[in-house]
Amino acid sequence: MALTKKQLAYLEKRLLNERARALKAIGLFDKMAKANRDSGDTDLAVYTDHMADQGTEAQEREKAASFATKEGRYLYRLEEALRRLYNDPKTFGNCHTCGADVGFERLDALPHARYCIDCKRKEESAA
Ligand SMILES: [Zn+2]
Repeated sequence: MALTKKQLAYLEKRLLNERARALKAIGLFDKMAKANRDSGDTDLAVYTDHMADQGTEAQEREKAASFATKEGRYLYRLEEALRRLYNDPKTFGNCHTCGADVGFERLDALPHARYCIDCKRKEESAA
């Protein structure tokens, strides 16, 4: 059974919230790395001031580097899930391997999940 509109709207909200959280985590990572390198000063005030106008090449590189982190990968998965949800809400929530429903409960716990629990277990036991 496909997900209802209400369930999709709920999952969209879940994904957006998680995305905001991941972005915040990555933003803090960037700021801390920069502040530590520039001055060695770990005062929190350093992180909050003048962050908006520092769109330098170095910062872009730092941003790219942060996407290699766990949060970065998580963010990527969340954005991928949002794209799937917007592009094709009818198949969002279908397992990418067997096409079965991933299940609303599983998606609630893990909104970016692409596989049903059975396929996930098979994959893990094969690895
Ligand atoms: Zn499956």
